[in-house]
Amino acid sequence: MKILAILYKGGKAAVEEPRLLGTLENKLGIADWLKSLGHEFIVTDDKEGPDSVFQKELPDTDVLITTPFHPGYLTGDLILNKAKKLKLAITAGVGSDHVDLNAANEKKITVAEVTGSNVVSVAEHVVMDILLLVRNFVPAHEMIERGDWVVADIARNAFDLEGKVVGTLGCGRIGFRVLKRLVPFDCKELLYYDYAALPAAAEKEVGARRVEDLHEFLGQCDVITINTPLHEGTRGLVNKELLSHVKKGAWIVNTARGAIADRIAIKEALASGQINGYAGDVWDVQPAPKDHPWRTMKNPLGGGNGMTPHYSGTTLDAQRRYAEGARDILERWFNNEPQIPANVIVANGEYATKAYGQRK
Ligand code: NAD
Repeated sequence: MKILAILYKGGKAAVEEPRLLGTLENKLGIADWLKSLGHEFIVTDDKEGPDSVFQKELPDTDVLITTPFHPGYLTGDLILNKAKKLKLAITAGVGSDHVDLNAANEKKITVAEVTGSNVVSVAEHVVMDILLLVRNFVPAHEMIERGDWVVADIARNAFDLEGKVVGTLGCGRIGFRVLKRLVPFDCKELLYYDYAALPAAAEKEVGARRVEDLHEFLGQCDVITINTPLHEGTRGLVNKELLSHVKKGAWIVNTARGAIADRIAIKEALASGQINGYAGDVWDVQPAPKDHPWRTMKNPLGGGNGMTPHYSGTTLDAQRRYAEGARDILERWFNNEPQIPANVIVANGEYATKAYGQRK
């Protein structure tokens, strides 16, 4: 079989740190294994446009491996017109929105991801982002690097998380783990908005309350963390209109997918003070262009930006788990064994998961 992987370039870091498994250089740690089985394995980071290695190799590729961190965008056009032999698309990580899942269904391509592989990694990042926004950390650190010391300039927009209302939009594996990690902070309330209710025992475990109306949910939260997949029902969801229902001065953390939020609406809401902060690691295209407004946007006091490159789910611990998981998916595929059900996003022309939107 011909297996093609699109991975981010690790450069010097990947040479010095072999645990950076998800890189072009370290090839998910599966190159020797695939070779020993007689497969052809091509790894590239060159993914944009018709002359990219990705698009040139795609027509006779049997299995494609991508990651959300440096997504090889497997569009409907590529699936329907170029990927003639493709049968399996593996996401080494969690979140397969960079694959046109409806087109994959049309061509009966299986899309599988390593479900759960980095959900703790992301939940920890969310808690960090919430704290750094609420406590006004980034401007405080920048002040120190500049050589200044004006406590009041930072303290005027620094708060405690205790006593605040925190809500997760989407309460699956990550959303629930965020709530669980917030329990000891003594928030006023932990809320969630999700078309799937948590099991009663899970709700009780974290003391969370479900709010069924989205506008009502947004109006009650001091902090909103977004943890839904990107699909037709969430693309562009956080737009100007929706932001008008957010409690004034709320903080938003989005580590789910950049395209869930409208880039201009977020920038403007932050600039006007409608929201006090926005943090996360996901962008509507990746790598983010140099002039992407989220790189430099600020609230009226010059803070409120906690953006980073997409790395929350690619800690070294996570990389080990998703590299192992990708190998397991391949092994099952080669041996004609069933996949772990939770890993399957679409198969046999149908959605196997309920998390990518409500469908009949
Ligand atoms: P999950 O499938 O366990 O949970 C997703 C939840 O979202 C489900 O409960 C689902 O019902 C809910 N949902 C879907 N559409 C919704 C909508 N329109 N409104 C309300 N709720 C909705 O997935 P997960 O493991 O928690 O991951 C969630 C997403 O986080 C992934 O799909 C991915 O996009 C993102 N993610 C990001 C990183 C990162 O490195 N930043 C890493 C892993 C996952």
